[in-house]
Amino acid sequence: MALRYQNKAVIVTGGSKGIGRGVVKAFVGNGAKVVFCARGAAAGEALETECNALGPGCCKFVECDVTKEDQIQRLVAVTLQLHGHIDCLVNNAGWHPPHKATDETTAEEFRNLLNLNLVSYFLASKFALPYLRQRHGNIINISSLVGTIGQKDAAPYVATKGAIISMTKAMAVDESKHNVRVNCISPGNVMTPLWEELAAQTADAAAAVQAGENAQLMGRMGTEAECGLAALFLAADATFCTGIDLLLSGGAELNYGFKSQIPS
Ligand code: NAD
Repeated sequence: MALRYQNKAVIVTGGSKGIGRGVVKAFVGNGAKVVFCARGAAAGEALETECNALGPGCCKFVECDVTKEDQIQRLVAVTLQLHGHIDCLVNNAGWHPPHKATDETTAEEFRNLLNLNLVSYFLASKFALPYLRQRHGNIINISSLVGTIGQKDAAPYVATKGAIISMTKAMAVDESKHNVRVNCISPGNVMTPLWEELAAQTADAAAAVQAGENAQLMGRMGTEAECGLAALFLAADATFCTGIDLLLSGGAELNYGFKSQIPS
């Protein structure tokens, strides 16, 4: 099959594992030149070696903490030094804290999560946009299904993800005059290291994973590879889509379920 994103320069935040790793693999596998960041170096360097061996595109790992503005600027600068242009930015690095009631959540915890999950997406977009405009490129923001349907004991996380969907629409409006498309993906449950960590914090991790699988009509979780294909679709094929929220959820939002928390 023809390569779908050949020689395009792509930045992926949080690309060393999980959904970001699926995105890096999908783009490199379709001929793109990917620059990805994460916090820990070991997993990033290992993925860089693995993907460059497979090709046909290439990738470069850059250590960058997206909560630091100067490090995001450096990530963009390194991409320009390497490739001279930017065609696509995938904002993905984020975190779901352990579930906690609002009464137990501090303002500092909420502010830190806003900084990681939302402000970093804004800043990476801000610094990449001057170059994306030159190439009529696109931004893909990884939000979450819970930004639309809510989630128990996770108000700050849900708020950051809902804000990503809103910011995506606002930037799609602003950037249309530059021919830059801005879209987001809202995954439901996807089996990643983050999901495993959250399951491990429950009393019965296997039961938590089973419940996570049962939440989809399709009876399973999504995969990293499926997330990569969705991002590739938005970047390469969805040329008439801007401001959309692509639900990548296996139908998790459909049908009635047992949801009442009112004691009977
Ligand atoms: P993960 O923890 O498995 O991977 C996260 C990646 O982001 C890693 O590469 C990590 O190094 C990087 N990262 C974390 N903090 C960073 C920072 N400060 N600076 C730079 N990189 C950082 O997580 P995941 O499950 O793959 O989630 C990725 C994104 O998808 C997140 O935004 C998450 O909210 C969203 N999401 C995940 C699911 C799911 O079920 N897994 C569902 C909906 C949305």
